[in-house]
Amino acid sequence: MQHFALSQRDTLPAKGTSARDLLAKVGLRPTRQRLALAEHLFTAGGRHVSASNLRDELVGKGAPVSMGCVYSSLRRLSEIGLIRRVPMYGATAYFDTETSHHHHFYVANEDRLIDVPNGTIKIRDIPAAPEGCDLVSIDVVLRLKPSHQQTP
Ligand SMILES: [Zn+2]
Repeated sequence: MQHFALSQRDTLPAKGTSARDLLAKVGLRPTRQRLALAEHLFTAGGRHVSASNLRDELVGKGAPVSMGCVYSSLRRLSEIGLIRRVPMYGATAYFDTETSHHHHFYVANEDRLIDVPNGTIKIRDIPAAPEGCDLVSIDVVLRLKPSHQQTP
């Protein structure tokens, strides 16, 4: 797998510099909105974001970006493999800055994804792909709800 300059633990050396390089590498013009988005997405560690919560975070930081910019940037970054779209049912698309293959817990009431530790899910007896299709990946989402709290 190709490694890019930014791993989830790296921080950008000089404000804007690496975000600019990153955008250049993926062929996106480095507008102020995109620079803020790339910097925010890749400096905060391993992230699971939806377009709307990413936009809310950026607006909260005083970096107003349009939903259109957020959508197009997330789509482009996932096309070139810098983030991974997490396969989920429902209307919200989630994106993951951890691009190695892994499964997720989904905490529905908090609308939050948590990585399942690698190697903890064993998958067997996989059906053959339908005629004309190749199996690309198996992505497990374990849906969670809060446990009932016991009163002491
Ligand atoms: Zn993840």
